[in-house]
Parts: sequence; structure tokens; C-alpha cells
Amino acid sequence: MATANPYVEIRRKLHQIPEPGFQEFKTQRFLLDYIEALPPERIEVRTWRTGILVRVKGKNPSKRIGYRADMDGLPIAEETTYEFRSQHPGYMHACGHDVHMTIGLGVLTHFVHNPINDDLILIFQPAEEGPGGALPMMESEEFQDWKPDSIYALHIAPEYPVGTIAVRPGILFANTSELFIELTGTGGHAAFPHKANDMVVAASHLVTQLQSIISRNVDPLDSAVITIGRIESGTRQNIIAEKARLEGTIRTLSVESMEQVKSRIEAVVSGIEAGFGCKAEIDYGSNYRQVYNDEQETREFMDWLQSTGTATLVECREAMTGEDFGYFLAGIPGFMFWLGAETPYGLHHSRMEPDERAIDVALEVLTKYIAWKSGR
Ligand SMILES: [Zn+2]
Ligand SMILES: [Zn+2]
Repeated sequence: MATANPYVEIRRKLHQIPEPGFQEFKTQRFLLDYIEALPPERIEVRTWRTGILVRVKGKNPSKRIGYRADMDGLPIAEETTYEFRSQHPGYMHACGHDVHMTIGLGVLTHFVHNPINDDLILIFQPAEEGPGGALPMMESEEFQDWKPDSIYALHIAPEYPVGTIAVRPGILFANTSELFIELTGTGGHAAFPHKANDMVVAASHLVTQLQSIISRNVDPLDSAVITIGRIESGTRQNIIAEKARLEGTIRTLSVESMEQVKSRIEAVVSGIEAGFGCKAEIDYGSNYRQVYNDEQETREFMDWLQSTGTATLVECREAMTGEDFGYFLAGIPGFMFWLGAETPYGLHHSRMEPDERAIDVALEVLTKYIAWKSGR
């Protein structure tokens, strides 16, 4: 179905080409083609790996205002009803990053045609879902050279209606870490357990003990989750398993409790090693720092939203999901907000179809807010 809204068209094109982290080659080319077709007088473009940085020069800049959009898709086989489904089998924009990039292009286009005093830095960041593009991009020379004085981002929210913006000062998203544990013992015949050491039993003990970390080591007023989502062990029913692999994730609401939980995991795993005479290896995979919204910046935005009525404001609770935008916010004041895009299926679901009318809402809010910030 065709639509008259050019940004909806762009979103649909991006939706068809989801790519994994640091392999966003077609996506980068698509964005660059669009950016290079804009009037060139005010813009300067740089690439960093598969990411892009665009500077829109202000009329009389005293600061740089940043907006970040993430670029990667997920290894999910799409099951939407769309005619414009993913053309990359096994990959899908199931986290709305197609929408985020489209909004980035809309903001860019608006300020190319309606320049403000300050410089605007558009950041198209690869690999949000993994292995994590924010931290290395932030440390790059390309970024440091144009480092913004404040930075903003949004994430679509399937649970809020279109026209709603949900945000809160302070922590918005949790600290997250992947967790992979490999246990190696000695396999053997099921009838001779005394000659083997059974990694199915060791893994079972380990899972139970990991859960006691949350109930016994984390401050009840803080919040933490350890989920083991997958266990792999053994070859068949009458052979004692030599290896076990546990895959999971850790979520905490504070940086300190993440460190504490990890050191407790290490202690519990050493106990399993000693108790079962096996070897264990821990790998934390991708780690995301909390998204901590600057109190003052966020309050100012919330007041502005309420006084202008540009969207309906909801002060939300923090979520146990992860987002690598937290790395930007650890060094630069700013905030991330939820953009209502109501749809029955949640983020990372193969049937998620965010309401595309959210794009116009975001463009209205961001262009007006950034212009207002620059005029102050
Ligand atoms: Zn995601
Ligand atoms: Zn996402």
C-alpha cells in the first residue's frame, strides 16, 4: 500500500533491509544516498564503521545538540502482515530501529531547510543490539571531534498510544549483561557415575544457586534479575554429560549491584567447580550501561511538553530492558524517551507492527524542542 508521507515510505524501505550489528552496509548506503541528495551548503558528513555522523551547521553556534538513532536489525524471522516485509531472510527490524533512523532523517531534513543558531549533530549508530556500537563510536575521533553538549534519543513503545511520550528523570533502562557459563567435567556410562562427574547435575545446582543471589545478596530496595534462558548439555539419555552450557542475562537497576551480582556469580561458580571437580568458564558477552536521564534536562523537557501540549506526557517507571544509549548519557547530559507506537506485539516480536503515525509525532516534538533549546 502506497502512502503520501515520504517518511513512511523511507521507513518501509529501511524495514526491508534489516542487517546485524556492524554489518549495516546497505542501511548505511541508503542513509548516505538520502543525505547526499540534500542541499550540501549546511551539512558535513562523516562515517565511522557502518555508522554515520552528520553535522548541520548552525547560523551562530554556541553549542552542539545531538540526536542519536540506532541502525541494526535482529536475527528474527519476520511474521508481520506487511507487504514490505524484510528481504533478508532470518532478519527483521523488530526493535523499531527503522523508525528511529527515519525520524533521524526527518530531523536532519527539517534543520537543513530551517537552520537554527546551534550546530546539530545527527548520530546514526550501528550495533545497538550487539555487540554494542555506542561505546566504541563515542570513543572514536570522528565523534569526539563533534562531541555534542547535549544528546537525545527515543525508542518506540508498543505499549503506549500514538501521541504519547513516556519519560522519567533518572534511571530509564537497567544495566544489562549477557551471561554464558561453560562447565566441563568427565563424561561416562550412565551406570558408572562414580567414574564420571555429571555436568547435568552440576548445571542444575548452579541454576538454583544463581537464583539465591537475587534473593539473598541484592538489596531488596534495589532490583536485579538473573535469567537463564537456555541450557545445553549431554548427548543421550544413558550417557553422563561431560559438558553443560548455560546462557542467560543479568539486569540490575544500579551499576553497583551489577558489579556485586557478577562477583557473587563468580563465587558461586567457583563453588560448583570445587564441589563437582569440574572446570568452569564465564563470559559476560555484551554489557550495557544503564540509561540514566539527566534530571535537569529531562525535567526541562517534561515541562516544555506540558506547556506546549505537543504530545501527551506520561511519567513512566524504569524498565529492565537494556539500551547502549546509556554510554552516551554517561558522558553527555541528555535523555531518552519512549515514543508511543501502539501495537499488540512487543519489542523483539516477529509480529511487531509499530503504528507509523508515531513518526510525525516524533518529528513535531523533536524539531520544535530542538529549535526551542537552541533559542535559549
Ligand atoms: Zn532491541
Ligand atoms: Zn531497540
